[in-house]
Amino acid sequence: MARYTEADCRLCRREGAKLFLKGERCLTKKCAMERRPVNPGVHPVSRKKPSEYQTQLREKQKVKRAYNLLERQFHGYYVEAERMKGKTGENMLSLLERRLDNVVYRMGLASSRAAARQLVSHGHICVDGKNVNIPSFEVKVGNVISVKENKQKKGNFASVRESRVVVPKWLEFNPEKLEGKVVALPAREDIDLNIEEHLIIELYSK
Ligand code: SF4
Repeated sequence: MARYTEADCRLCRREGAKLFLKGERCLTKKCAMERRPVNPGVHPVSRKKPSEYQTQLREKQKVKRAYNLLERQFHGYYVEAERMKGKTGENMLSLLERRLDNVVYRMGLASSRAAARQLVSHGHICVDGKNVNIPSFEVKVGNVISVKENKQKKGNFASVRESRVVVPKWLEFNPEKLEGKVVALPAREDIDLNIEEHLIIELYSK
């Protein structure tokens, strides 16, 4: 499967925002955005005012990279969101949030979306009791997400039981059982990304 090979912290510096791609390191002083929050490369500071296109492009790249997606996958969410009723930008963010790898990350079962994707694709996660190894699987209201029983002793789940992650209000999570439930669809105010999604829609609708 194709994937980005550029260093994660470089992506954050390029977008000028913390994208939380490296788990716990992102919360420490070692975070590159804390130490050197400028563009990567030999000319870290640009004196030019960004054009409208550049502003829209950077916003799109920021979200795409935060969810760890390639362009084709990301554009597919825009196409699907456009077909739905309501605001395309909000629909798109809601669809991205409902990806199984994102839900695993939001529940605190993994420290980053990349780690969550690995848990899903390695067969550690069940939806309604059935093993699902597709990271893009779209969860629905009422779905119960759990760690496969024979995998619970493996991995880093002991620390998950002890940690008290605050999950978004559209999810419930029981750390003792390593099990959570989708209780509602994510609304825009539940998504804590500092982005202007209308810029992405403007870019794609050109
Ligand atoms: Fe981004 Fe995390 Fe690296 Fe900080 S540590 S720059 S938030 S990936």
